[in-house]
Amino acid sequence: MDQDQKIVTITTGNITEVDLIKNVLETNGIKSYLKDESLGRWAPHIASPGGVGAVKIAVAESNVSRAKAIVMEMSSKGSDSPQEKSQADLWTCPSCGEDIEDQFTKCWKCQTIRPGSDDAINKNS
Ligand SMILES: [Zn+2]
Repeated sequence: MDQDQKIVTITTGNITEVDLIKNVLETNGIKSYLKDESLGRWAPHIASPGGVGAVKIAVAESNVSRAKAIVMEMSSKGSDSPQEKSQADLWTCPSCGEDIEDQFTKCWKCQTIRPGSDDAINKNS
């Protein structure tokens, strides 16, 4: 067994993202190492343009495939839920076809009252 196991960077992110990933990896029994942590925390725009991906997270080579699978699962969860939510909160104006946010009872474009809303039901009373 080679004791000097190779350390491989699996992903990059801002300090908040890599802190979260590190915690999840440790929960799964994978030891991880942060590279450029202090630079990413205090001067991310120096570490990389715009501070995006400023901090690198690395694991031992034998853990790379497991760690990558965990990171992929995390990122797919993160991107799915807000999309589903925003689509559920829209209604479509029957008159002009505009997508209107759930909080509005009237179309902002043509003033059509939302079908089935209280305003539509009470309109003639
Ligand atoms: Zn409309």
